[in-house]
Amino acid sequence: MSLARLARLIRAAGRIAEPPPPRPDPDDGLSPLPAERTAALRGSVQVRHVDAGSCNGCEIEIAAAFGPVYDVERYGARLVASPRHADVVLVTGVVTQNMAGPLRMTVAATPEPRLVIALGDCARSCGALRGGYGVLGPVSDVVPVDLEVPGCPPEPEAIVEALRRVTGR
Ligand code: SF4
Repeated sequence: MSLARLARLIRAAGRIAEPPPPRPDPDDGLSPLPAERTAALRGSVQVRHVDAGSCNGCEIEIAAAFGPVYDVERYGARLVASPRHADVVLVTGVVTQNMAGPLRMTVAATPEPRLVIALGDCARSCGALRGGYGVLGPVSDVVPVDLEVPGCPPEPEAIVEALRRVTGR
């Protein structure tokens, strides 16, 4: 396909992102985020994702949230590869015995002020994977958690809303 034809197709398709939902109200009582720590993160937030023992269902929804349709980057949240570059650690899944150490090290390597988000029912309370032989516990048993996002898995809209509560955009 020629570049000119490709450009015509892109122009014809137009924007495909979902229209922006209302901005979450930080004073609605639903966000337990500490204002003194989020103040430094407003506007632009770098996110390091850690799969601590997920079934990968939550990862599919994270990919959708950061993809072109839900496009959470337009609200200032961006995935990064290193915790050294991150403000937020986004944790999915139960914490398995083998991932407890790497999760603690990842959070410790993330500079302050940092926030930890437990994404999905497994991360919050072990969910469907409770009682598994390799399961150590929910994320809050291993590292302090600032924000929880319920759902199995949470829908992309819920992920976008949680990150917008951090960016304030
Ligand atoms: S919350 Fe549901 S989708 Fe997410 S890791 Fe657990 S079982 Fe999988």
